[in-house]
Amino acid sequence: MGRLEGRAALVTGAARGIGAAIARRFAGEGARVCVADLDGDAAAGTASGLPGESYGVSLDVSDRESVDRVVEEAAERHGSLDVLVNNAGVTHDNLLFRMTDEEWASVMDVHLAGAFYCCRAAQRYMVDGGYGRIVNISSTSALGNRGQANYSTAKAGLQGFTKTLAAELGRFGITANAVAPGFIETEMTRTTAARLGYEDFEEFAALRAKEIPVGRGGRPEDVAAAALFFASEEASFISGQVLYAAGGPKA
Ligand code: NAD
Repeated sequence: MGRLEGRAALVTGAARGIGAAIARRFAGEGARVCVADLDGDAAAGTASGLPGESYGVSLDVSDRESVDRVVEEAAERHGSLDVLVNNAGVTHDNLLFRMTDEEWASVMDVHLAGAFYCCRAAQRYMVDGGYGRIVNISSTSALGNRGQANYSTAKAGLQGFTKTLAAELGRFGITANAVAPGFIETEMTRTTAARLGYEDFEEFAALRAKEIPVGRGGRPEDVAAAALFFASEEASFISGQVLYAAGGPKA
């Protein structure tokens, strides 16, 4: 029996990268997963490779109406909404003096407003069901990272948001926790490597791995393993926590 047998999950930004790995892991553990992503076709493609009754859907988490509709559809289609993973994310890196209002706002919209809209929409169904698991994907950038004033602010904000959700929703059987990944090899870090002038991603990844105590870069599956723990029934007494999945210690 899978660790999420009979559970219905919604994972945002799940067409590729970390979100897709979480969707795969959850489906492999018996969950029916709504694979939601800005790129609806890619989301459908990812969902088609999953076992069970998972499906893909187009969703812009920064669009409140779209969030309300997709969350409602997911809860109706699967009969409940037990697990929400706020994973959708973007980077628009720049040094502070060059950062535009648009770069600041778009990162806030996706990470912070997006997680807020999704949690507010989902908690209704979780409260009704007397059960819920919310997992927010933060980052080691929450501790500060050059070129990421917008992103590090959003990822630190998500940690405060997570703790507040834990305080408010615990009495309804709902836990909220955050996973804060370090360097994970995905399209997002390929974009970072290109921005920093690396033509060869492997060279960038090898340099990053040298700074990581376990001696390798992270894989999307490493984050999925941490998300699965928080999403599972057995984690019912753990709420408001931030787990750094970074191959070494972080504050
Ligand atoms: P990725 O770029 O490979 O995937 C992000 C996904 O989110 C894409 O499929 C994209 O279409 C989707 N998305 C973007 N904006 C969206 C929106 N408005 N609505 C819905 N979907 C949207 O990135 P990833 O590396 O897999 O990152 C996933 C999450 O993990 C992000 O929140 C990211 O900030 C976080 N994270 C990544 C790393 C890393 O090293 N890769 C480290 C720490 C945290």
